[in-house]
Amino acid sequence: MTKYVFVTGGVVSGLGKGITASSIALLLKSRGYKVFMQKFDPYINVDPGTMNPIQHGEVFVTFDGCETDLDLGHYERFIDEELNFTSNITSGKIYKSVIDKERHGDYLGATVQMVPHITNEIKNKVYEAGISSGADIVITEIGGTVGDIESQSFIEALRQIQYEKGSDNTFFVHCTLIPFIYGSNELKTKPTQNSVRDLRNMGIRPDALVCRAPYDTGEAIKKKLSLFCSVPVENVIDSVDVKNIYEIPINYYNQKIDEIILKQFNLPIKKANLDYWKKLIKTVDNLSEEVEIALVGKYVELHDAYISVVEALKHAGYKYNTKVNINWVDSEKLEDSNVNLKEIFKNSKGILVPGGFGSRGIEGKIKAIKFARENNIPFLGICLGMQLAVIEFARNVCDIKDASSTEFNPTCLNPIIDLMADQKSIVNMGGTLRLGNYECTLKKGTLAYKDYNQEKILERHRHRYEFNNKYKDILESKGMVFSGLNEKANLVEIIELPSHKHFIASQFHPEFKSRPTRPHPLFDSFIKASCGK
Ligand code: GLN
Repeated sequence: MTKYVFVTGGVVSGLGKGITASSIALLLKSRGYKVFMQKFDPYINVDPGTMNPIQHGEVFVTFDGCETDLDLGHYERFIDEELNFTSNITSGKIYKSVIDKERHGDYLGATVQMVPHITNEIKNKVYEAGISSGADIVITEIGGTVGDIESQSFIEALRQIQYEKGSDNTFFVHCTLIPFIYGSNELKTKPTQNSVRDLRNMGIRPDALVCRAPYDTGEAIKKKLSLFCSVPVENVIDSVDVKNIYEIPINYYNQKIDEIILKQFNLPIKKANLDYWKKLIKTVDNLSEEVEIALVGKYVELHDAYISVVEALKHAGYKYNTKVNINWVDSEKLEDSNVNLKEIFKNSKGILVPGGFGSRGIEGKIKAIKFARENNIPFLGICLGMQLAVIEFARNVCDIKDASSTEFNPTCLNPIIDLMADQKSIVNMGGTLRLGNYECTLKKGTLAYKDYNQEKILERHRHRYEFNNKYKDILESKGMVFSGLNEKANLVEIIELPSHKHFIASQFHPEFKSRPTRPHPLFDSFIKASCGK
């Protein structure tokens, strides 16, 4: 029977619930259990695909094309399992499905209500994740903070699951804050007591508390929390601030959180295999070199908007014993004609232009790409970054001065980047991009082929516009190589410039498949070139 771990949050958001959930999953996996992860987001959007990254950070994409919360990126990077459509459930998805069923007449005349219809739908999503993944243990994180109006139906559904499945099949981890009060100079437990009371008011008794605190809380605080919250002392787990997030699973392991969970589940406590993770921590703590990479984007004030890209750069850095420092460059600021690119990029050993939507900051990104191309600075373009690299080349090398994309200039006469026929009739914005895995065939003898060292690859996509094949011959005649193609639909997936030290760009998003212990080939070679290796 599938077992379920639920991770809730209290007091404030931003406590690292996602990392806690991922760490627990990693520990259970390391003990030989098959795990699967899921996140509930209480907002009404069906998915975060239509949200502004400035509000919500990056949209992570699963292999089957689900646009998800960025926490799923943490999950995949920690547990190294591919997640899917059942992994990110929003209130919007739940309501939509219930309302669709009601319109279809599925409720046979019943009054459709929060309980049981919405809560049943939520419970089904939990059970479905267990069945479809075949996991021994499903770890579900509930977004937001206990007590929020938005998350009440989720908490109620979990209460029902706790009752239905019993405490040997469910385990509730509540993440809270233990603030340090200056003046009296002590840690305070009251906010945690209050938040556990909120949870208990909704019928849920937490099995463990994960307490975010500036330092170890100590025996006295743990005893107090145990008494007031009815949680065994050993189930009060410290989560102290760390400089390297990979330490977190090991910190929990040392406090035996995985053993506590397995004991409650009556599952054997098999030996944990964490050597690879400890090696990773050692690597990250002892990086001996540094390299600066410029990341040219329009959401640079919120680094979370590019979190997978940044992580992928770091992962590649680990392989070369190198700390990657990001030079955050606001593309809009590059548009000023007085801007001194040499000054802005003076310490940057590589330039990366990531994905994006809309026309703001486009010309700045094109300027950065031109600078990388003309100065032989290693360049990696991702999605919009590839589209702009092609536009830059068309304009400045092939002399097609008005080359553009119909995304920013719908009436342009040289649409180097254009909508495919099947995208032209689409009216809904949500969920209608080209999403998820598509195959790409690599051309032998190219940089792309060398990076991957194989002919067929599968990569994740999230875009609407495509390279316009009408311009292929002219770009090729000037030296651009189309090194990756989707043969089925005849779409360009990778471009490169062999005359350049390292200039490559992909229509897909390689960042989603990078792992801390296994950097993605395109990031690997980009960092290698940027380090001059
Ligand atoms: N805006 C471009 C498109 O829709 C690129 C998308 C992206 O970079 N993710 O095709």
